[in-house]
Amino acid sequence: MRNECSIIRDLLPLYAENMVRSDTAAFIEEHLKGCKACKKEYEQNYGRSEEAPPAQEVSDAAPLLRLSRKMKVRKMQTIALTALFVAALFVSAFAVLDAPIYLPYSEKTVTVQPLGDKGMLLTFDDEVTDFDYTIYEDPDGGDFCYCEIQAWTSLWDKWFSQGKEALSAKVTLQHAKPVLVVYAPNDETENVCIAKYDPNAEKRIEKNVDHESITVLPRLSLGYYLILAAAALLVLGIVWFLTRKKETVHVWIERIGLYPLAYIISHCIVSGINWASYSLSRDFSLIVFISILLYSGLLLAHNVWRLKREIKEINP
Ligand SMILES: [Zn+2]
Repeated sequence: MRNECSIIRDLLPLYAENMVRSDTAAFIEEHLKGCKACKKEYEQNYGRSEEAPPAQEVSDAAPLLRLSRKMKVRKMQTIALTALFVAALFVSAFAVLDAPIYLPYSEKTVTVQPLGDKGMLLTFDDEVTDFDYTIYEDPDGGDFCYCEIQAWTSLWDKWFSQGKEALSAKVTLQHAKPVLVVYAPNDETENVCIAKYDPNAEKRIEKNVDHESITVLPRLSLGYYLILAAAALLVLGIVWFLTRKKETVHVWIERIGLYPLAYIISHCIVSGINWASYSLSRDFSLIVFISILLYSGLLLAHNVWRLKREIKEINP
């Protein structure tokens, strides 16, 4: 080993850390070009092989590429997320504006007139913007039928459908049984017996009929579904807490748990904090529809949030 070699080897650690002056660096580089032993020593100890810089570049570029791909995905997801929440907002606004406001009974609300021997004509007050009626046999086995009427309006109709024609409906009957026409106010008060239509009687419509009243009870299924959603959320919350050290399990629990959360929010939008519903199928289909929109939105939001964290980890 020459004298110069031992000086170079003393300097190599400083050179590797770029801590020598430029003329010293030039001197070391010059020596390394000519001395295979020192060059080998340098490559072995400081791992800087001038022949293999591409490997270094690849490992530098890989996280950058991953980062830019993740940022692109995040951008697209954010756009989709906004679209979903806007859609959910519109459907929610529709659900609130269109929610039936049932009308209490007054003599003007609905009037019944005979229509030959096969039916009746129902005429509604102009406050009524929508109605529904169902005809069913007396559940207690009496020799007559019920014609149960519900009438309502909505916020939307109150604001935008003023001055529309009064609604009316022709009710045709398939049988010769007398029909008791009842009005359901849907406010947990008793049904009002408006009239009795008897196709066999001379005077077909009889008003002020005395009849045992029934109350239409609200359907409670929505309340049960709400309890179910809350219970699912609670169970998932406990599992989430117990598995807090397992990252992948955690992510999946969060993804699943977002659905009951979306369902509860949708229930509150459609039915308020009411458990009971007089319009179960309408309310339930709206809740499911809004909850699916919200769930997709929350799922995307969760993904975007996770991506944001990963991007931060790669590029602090
Ligand atoms: Zn040397």
